[in-house]
Amino acid sequence: MTGLGQNKPAPREKVLSKMDINLINKLRKKYNHNLYAMYVEYPHKSIWSKDFSDTHFRTALKNLFSDKKDTPLLLYVHIPFCSRQCFYCTCHTFVTRDYERVKSYMNVLYREIDMLKELFDSYSAAPNFREIHLGGGSPTLLHEKEFDFFIEKLKSIADIKKLSEFAIEVDPRETSKEKLLYYNSKGINRLSFGVQDFDLNVQKAVNRVQPPELLEKVLTPDIRKHFRSINFDIMWGLPRQTPESYKKTIDTTIKLSPDRISLLMLHYAPDVKKHQKLMKQSEIPDVTEKTKLFQIACQMLESNGYVRIGFEHFAKATDELATALKNKTVHWNSLGYTTGRYLDIIGIGSGSSSRITDNYYFQSHYPLADYEASVSDNKFPVYRGYNLNSDDIIRREVIHNLRIYFSLNYSKIEAQYNIEFGKYFKTETASLKNLAGDGILELSENGITVTELGKYFIFHVCRVFDNFNKQ
Ligand code: SF4
Repeated sequence: MTGLGQNKPAPREKVLSKMDINLINKLRKKYNHNLYAMYVEYPHKSIWSKDFSDTHFRTALKNLFSDKKDTPLLLYVHIPFCSRQCFYCTCHTFVTRDYERVKSYMNVLYREIDMLKELFDSYSAAPNFREIHLGGGSPTLLHEKEFDFFIEKLKSIADIKKLSEFAIEVDPRETSKEKLLYYNSKGINRLSFGVQDFDLNVQKAVNRVQPPELLEKVLTPDIRKHFRSINFDIMWGLPRQTPESYKKTIDTTIKLSPDRISLLMLHYAPDVKKHQKLMKQSEIPDVTEKTKLFQIACQMLESNGYVRIGFEHFAKATDELATALKNKTVHWNSLGYTTGRYLDIIGIGSGSSSRITDNYYFQSHYPLADYEASVSDNKFPVYRGYNLNSDDIIRREVIHNLRIYFSLNYSKIEAQYNIEFGKYFKTETASLKNLAGDGILELSENGITVTELGKYFIFHVCRVFDNFNKQ
């Protein structure tokens, strides 16, 4: 183990005062709000239209390359399989032990990569992929033979040696030093571990038993030096989490010293994700307890040198994400916070999302049968999409500023979009005043600053500017 937190005494957390919690609860009831901060995309996926198809996807890519041939891009690849079901999971994934099923999916994915290559060639475009992210599901369940072939396929559309970031989501139960070095030999330089909680009692309640020793064994200096960044996903709101158990989890996290931490709240929706019913609802912390857990993590991480990025992400002060925050170049998308090297994302694989130019969002089919049928028919597997107009684009920028920086500078938006903020957002001003009255934000002549209390209601602040989800 290296870096932050080592040799330091465990920090004394400022315990959330009863008054703070009462105030948060009072406002939560008033705004009917569950503390869950979203706005990954604007407008929200639920209003994207199923009228979009392969043709729109091809046109959007054509526009992208005719506007700017060397525009930096991110490629996201979704591998939606896991060998076991974690009960809290909200990802798009299928549990299977049938590796032949995984292989047949990969064959379709290779065809999708070929289709992209054919399209790029037809536009005489050499796409400037700067980052590739492999997510799921569990991409680490691929055997070396398939992984080798997969990387060769990726090389047909991307220059892996030139990537700033090549990341993979890693299941700690499926890894070893040898495996991490193998990934590195394939060009992977960033690892994201699904940790969630280190407490055995909590791990049993969510069907994901993985002792911290698994990570201690692999995250040694000789391995770490090969990777420019290591991320841990940690959850709050899981069954059986208590302030005491959670302090230990955060303490272990700090000792293991990841460069970035995504502090994700359990999104409990058992009607949609049926397997969540396998968690005992009575063991899930209530909203007050969840707030305490979140505060404990924030206070411990910040007092150990981590910089808070947006509502729920943290990075070491030396990490390039913290630098991007200082330089105001951070972006927020379906992969969390990124350094802003690119805006356009091409997603491949079932359920993946794409953002192409300022104007288009697309999402691929979730059901494997639909995804596979579409690609086999030589069509990009578009399930739904959205074409943003100029108002959507302005609102998205406002929401992103608030979501990332908890503040908004009116002059910046006015200069960027040639509008007069007060006039353009006349209706929204009244709602902002109400939020200011509740101490959620402060208004000045030239902007909005969200208060510490208001950070818990950032979803609500963003919603003021949401044309499709007015309060
Ligand atoms: S390993 Fe990840 S994607 Fe798979 S079930 Fe668990 S949380 Fe979901």
